[in-house]
Amino acid sequence: MTDQAQGPRTAILTVDDDPGVSRAVARDLRRRYGEQHRIVRAESAPEALDALRQMKLRGDLVAVILADYRMPDLNGIEFLEQAMDIYPGARRVLLTAYADTGAAIDAINVVDLDHYLLKPWDPPEENLYPVVDALLEAWGESDHRAVPETKVVGHRWSARSSEVREFLARNQVPYRWYAADEPEGQRLLAAAGVDGRALPVVITPDGDPLVEPADAQLASRVGLATTPSQDFYDLIVVGGGPAGLGAAVYGASEGLRTVLVERLATGGQAGQSSRIENYLGFPDGVSGAQLTSRARRQAIRFGAEVLTTREVTGLEVRGSARRVTFADGTFIDGHTVLLATGVSYRRLGAPGLDELTGRGVYYGSALTEAAESRDQDVFIVGGANSAGQAALFLSRYAKSVTLLVRAPSLEQSMSYYLIRRIAENPAISVRTCTEIAGGAGAEHLERLTLRDTVRGSTETVDAQWLYLFIGAEPLTDWLGDVVVRDARGFVVAGPDLSAGGQRLRGWALDRPPYHLETSVPGVFVAGDARAESAKRVASAVGEGAMAVMLVHRYLEKL
Ligand SMILES: Cc1cc2nc3c(=O)[nH]c(=O)nc-3n(C[C@H](O)[C@H](O)[C@H](O)COP(=O)(O)OP(=O)(O)OC[C@H]3O[C@@H](n4cnc5c(N)ncnc54)[C@H](O)[C@@H]3O)c2cc1C
Repeated sequence: MTDQAQGPRTAILTVDDDPGVSRAVARDLRRRYGEQHRIVRAESAPEALDALRQMKLRGDLVAVILADYRMPDLNGIEFLEQAMDIYPGARRVLLTAYADTGAAIDAINVVDLDHYLLKPWDPPEENLYPVVDALLEAWGESDHRAVPETKVVGHRWSARSSEVREFLARNQVPYRWYAADEPEGQRLLAAAGVDGRALPVVITPDGDPLVEPADAQLASRVGLATTPSQDFYDLIVVGGGPAGLGAAVYGASEGLRTVLVERLATGGQAGQSSRIENYLGFPDGVSGAQLTSRARRQAIRFGAEVLTTREVTGLEVRGSARRVTFADGTFIDGHTVLLATGVSYRRLGAPGLDELTGRGVYYGSALTEAAESRDQDVFIVGGANSAGQAALFLSRYAKSVTLLVRAPSLEQSMSYYLIRRIAENPAISVRTCTEIAGGAGAEHLERLTLRDTVRGSTETVDAQWLYLFIGAEPLTDWLGDVVVRDARGFVVAGPDLSAGGQRLRGWALDRPPYHLETSVPGVFVAGDARAESAKRVASAVGEGAMAVMLVHRYLEKL
C-alpha cells in the first residue's frame, strides 16, 4: 500500500489488483486532488480493507473509494460492501470493463453504488474528474460531519433511547450505540461525569455530553440546520417525505427560493420502509432510507434549504403572502406553500400497549430495533403492504414472525407479490381473524392477549416485540379551517373542491383552482395528505414535482 502523504487531509482510496492500472488511477487522482487530499493506493482488496481499518482507528476521513470490479480475493462489489461497514459515508465507485457493466448496475442496489466508471477512463478531464468532483462535493455536503462520530449511551428498552437512535438514523447522522449496563457504556458515562440515572446521554462529535436531549437540541448539536436563513421564499414546503423532497428538488432546481420544513427527520414514512420494491427504476428494491437520503442530498445540492425538527403549527393568508408559523411562534413568509405532511399511524388503544410503546411496542417500523429481536418471537399487526414488508424484513433476524390480521385473509389488502413471499417464508405465520386485546410487561413487553374475532375466545402468548401497522390519519389538524379538508382530515384540492359542480365558497379568482391547489390560492397539497391520493412513494414524488409546475403557473399570474 502506498500512502502519499501523512496528515489530517481527507483520503481518496483506490484499489486495483493490476499494479499498472492501480498506479495510473492513483497518478491521475494525485494530479488533480493531491494537494487537498491524501491518495491511498492498494493492490488487493484485503490490503485496502486493512488500510481503511487503520485509517478508521486513527480517526481519518475517507471521502471516496474507487474499486476495481475484477479482483481475485474479493470482487469490487464484495469489497465495497465490507468497506461500507468501516466508512458508511464514503462515496463508492466501481471501475469496470465494458463487459461487466451488468454487474456494475446490480451493485447500485447491493452497495448503494454512486457511480461506475468504464476502463480506460482517458481523458480523465472528461471521464474521471467530473465524477470524482461531484462525489467529493456530495460527501462534503452531507457526510463529513459524521466523523468523528456521535455516541448514544442508553437503555436498550427505553422509549426515548430508541427515539433518539431513530432520529439520528433517519437524519443520516451516523452514531455508535452503547448499552448503559455494559462496560464501554459505563466508561463513557463516567468520562462524561454523569451517573446514568437520566438516559440517554448523547456525546456529540466534539465530546460534549447531552443528557436526555430534545430533538431540536440534538439537531443543532450534530450539525443539522434548524433555522431559516431568509424570511421570504418563493416556495415553503411543509413536510420532508417523498412529496416534500420531490418538490424541494424540482423547486430548487428550477430556480425557486425553496425551503423545506420538517418536524422530525426527512424521509417521512418512506424513510421507515425496509425495502421499496415498486419504485420505478429499482428492480431489486431500494431501502426507503437510501432513497430519501439521496433525495435530501439532491435537494440541498440544488440549493434548497432543509430545516429539521421544526414543526409547523399554523398557516395564514396575509395579502399575497402566505405565512407559516412554527411551534415556537416564529414564522416565515412565502409566495406559495406546499402542504406535504403525509399521514401517521393510528394508535391501537388496547390496554397496556401505550405504556410499552418504545419498549417492545413500535408503531410503523423501528428498523433500528430489528437486530435486537434476533432469535426472538415477533408479532406484527396489519394486513397492508407495510406490514408485509416488515414481516419479511424482521424474519431475517427473528426466530418467528407472526402476522396478526383482523380480516379473514390478506388478499384484499396486500400486494400479491408480498403474499406469495410470506407464504414461502417458513419463519412467518399468518393468523387471520385475530386482534390484540391487550399487552403486559414490567420493563419491556412480555405478553400479548390475542382475541379470535370469530369465536370470541382469547389466548395469552409470550411476546417481546410488537410492530403495529394499522392504518393512518393525516397530519393536518393544525390547518383548522384555513383550507378545506374532508371528513377524515385529508386536504381537498383541484377539481375535487368543486365536486357536484358547485362553485367553491370564498374562491375569489376568475379561474378554478389548479389540480393540486387547495381552497386557498397559492397553497398546494401533495402526497398522502391529499384527499383521494394514491398513498405510494412514486405518486407522492410525482405530485411534489407537479406542484412545482403549478407554483410556476401561479407565480406568473401574481
Ligand atoms: C413501513 C412503510 C412501508 C411502505 N412501503 C411502500 C412501498 O413499498 N411502496 C410505496 O409506493 N409506498 C410505500 N409506503 C407508503 C409511502 O411511504 C407513502 O405513500 C409516502 O411516504 C407518502 O409520502 P408523503 O411525502 O406524502 O408523506 P410522508 O412520507 O408521510 O411524509 C410527511 C412528512 O411530513 C412531516 N410533517 C408532518 N406534519 C408536519 C408539520 N406540521 N410540520 C413539519 N413537518 C411535518 C412528517 O414528519 C413526515 O416526515 C410505505 C409506508 C410505510 C410506513
